[in-house]
Amino acid sequence: MELKPFYPVSDKAKAHSYLSEHDYKQMYQQSIERPDEFWAEQANTFIDWYQPWEQVSKVDYHQAQIQWFAGAKLNVSYNCIDRHLPERASQTAIIFEGDEPGNSHHVSYQELSDQVNKFANVLKSRGVKKGDRVCIYMPMIVEVGYAMLACARIGAVHSVVFGGFSTESIKTRILDADCQVVITADQGMRGGKVIPLKDNVDAAVADCPNVHSVIVVERTGADVNWNPAIDVHYEQAMAQADSFCEPEIMDAEDPLFILYTSGSTGKPKGVLHTCGGYILYASMTHKYVFDYRDGEIYWCTADAGWITGHSYIFYGPLANGATTLVFEGVPTYPDASRFWQVIEEHKVNVFYTAPTAIRALMGLGDELVNKQDLSSLRLLGTVGEPINPEAWHWYYEVVGKNNCPIVDTWWQTETGGVLITTLPGSSGMKPGAAGLPFFGIKPAILDADGNELEGECRGRLVLTGSWPGQMRTVYGDQQRFYETYFSQYPGYYFAGDGAKRDKDGYYWIIGRIDDVLNVSGHRLGTAEIESALVLHPKVSEAAVVGYPHDIKGQGVYAYVTLMKGEQGDAGLDSELKDLVAKELGSFSKPDLLQWSPSLPKTRSGKIMRRILRKIAENELDNLGDTSTLADPGAVDELIENRLIR
Ligand code: ATP
Ligand code: MG
Repeated sequence: MELKPFYPVSDKAKAHSYLSEHDYKQMYQQSIERPDEFWAEQANTFIDWYQPWEQVSKVDYHQAQIQWFAGAKLNVSYNCIDRHLPERASQTAIIFEGDEPGNSHHVSYQELSDQVNKFANVLKSRGVKKGDRVCIYMPMIVEVGYAMLACARIGAVHSVVFGGFSTESIKTRILDADCQVVITADQGMRGGKVIPLKDNVDAAVADCPNVHSVIVVERTGADVNWNPAIDVHYEQAMAQADSFCEPEIMDAEDPLFILYTSGSTGKPKGVLHTCGGYILYASMTHKYVFDYRDGEIYWCTADAGWITGHSYIFYGPLANGATTLVFEGVPTYPDASRFWQVIEEHKVNVFYTAPTAIRALMGLGDELVNKQDLSSLRLLGTVGEPINPEAWHWYYEVVGKNNCPIVDTWWQTETGGVLITTLPGSSGMKPGAAGLPFFGIKPAILDADGNELEGECRGRLVLTGSWPGQMRTVYGDQQRFYETYFSQYPGYYFAGDGAKRDKDGYYWIIGRIDDVLNVSGHRLGTAEIESALVLHPKVSEAAVVGYPHDIKGQGVYAYVTLMKGEQGDAGLDSELKDLVAKELGSFSKPDLLQWSPSLPKTRSGKIMRRILRKIAENELDNLGDTSTLADPGAVDELIENRLIR
């Protein structure tokens, strides 16, 4: 396939879009010149308030103090449900697609309303009140959405813990946020495998003396251990609950949820988001980034345990009255055509997934995609990691049939919603580049000393000024909030990522700052070397780290996963090294290349380079926090075959 560097906006995308190129420029200009006026207007357009704000924004990065719309009153669940009922009571809010094909059903806005109201009353009956923290540890079933919205309705603060984590991760998160109620299911089903959710919760709460209630949704009906003192049978409690619960009137700055980051770089942080700014930013970005139109079927494949699941499965789409698909399973079960089958089955128009899934499915060939009818697709999105141009093209051509724009959305748990992306109808795409800033977002690139760079440049990506969806603190640790994001470069929010800006003002994320190598004085982004490696048809995935090198300072160490059925040998080793040298210059050429059948990843599919770095450096004593790893076994194998001992 031919790799083009630029794809202009298609006529089809222009016709569908809310915004032309001109509109984007004008609105962006207004958003940064008169931000408070801009955001006040958006807040009135997107959100129903009980009472207006006293001041639009109040931000001091030197103190890490951020407020938006303080004094204004709203309820997030009201905005996601009640206000839609006059027009949308019978419209589908959620399409559920279970782990087993064929297990699927629709939930209307009316049913969503009934369930959330009842659930809110169940929580109240267990003594949960405004400000209390509730841990949600569930499979990807509709009840996870009910649980989140029920918390929002009564002003409780939810902390969703990914259902793939085990006891230790749940325990530390329950204790960190002092959650006294846990919502779970008897078991989960993922890829045909049973996940013992209730057992995991039992083991965790054994060490959490403050937990007084564990609400258990029935998913498989398995016989699970029951502790009558604290366990609550969800279905029984719901049967007795009243079907209306008055929404709690919340201040815009009251907490909405806590969510722990994925832990790619260190100990997860309890990111706190508040009601008003978050729901405005999630809904506005959902509308414009995906050009979402009434009646479309929208599917984000993330898990509710990640911010993407919060903002773009539940809060953003539901605030916009959308139809959002909740998928319980995995892309490879019963076979690797599952995503494409689900798209065909439910006539999905907008599909949003992660590069790790795209790369994995690309490695299995085009046949699985081509046998499905994907003609309903209008737009594709990606998030989570830089997408290498090779995978981008495959996504564009094979999945999107050259007919769907791709939005490569850069953002973080901390940012609440998308900050950098192209907009489908107003800016052309460059494979591998995230694109341009969203409204109100002012990115800047700094050198190591904190000087702002102009024009085309590369360095540390920071943000000047705030936006409504920004996190407000690290739960219980304001000092860590300040130190992590605001202390290195005073006056800026430091995102931790490296980026370059090109002549057209597009931002290219080149990986975490820690992942930028310094080889013989050249600063190299690991993402670029990885992109070069995966250009080779036999390579499915690559991860690059630095290691101490006597002459160069740092050497380039590449871990390479080959396509199914391929074998690594000396010939391929030098072929790959030469390929990188040809693409990026000889200083980028890997010094060492290790064949790696699998790479250590977080549960959200991100490669954990900090562990790969330790293995490359032969520093095995202290691999750091590995509790968020998807497959700890991958690490043992890499250690076994490491190249430096
Ligand atoms: P931790 O902060 O605990 O190390 P994490 O950063 O992986 O975990 P997230 O908030 O889930 O947790 O991920 C945000 C990060 O993901 C970004 O800082 C960036 O490194 C990466 N990322 C997200 N989207 C993109 C994208 N479109 N292109 C490139 N990188 C992306
Ligand atoms: Mg991060």
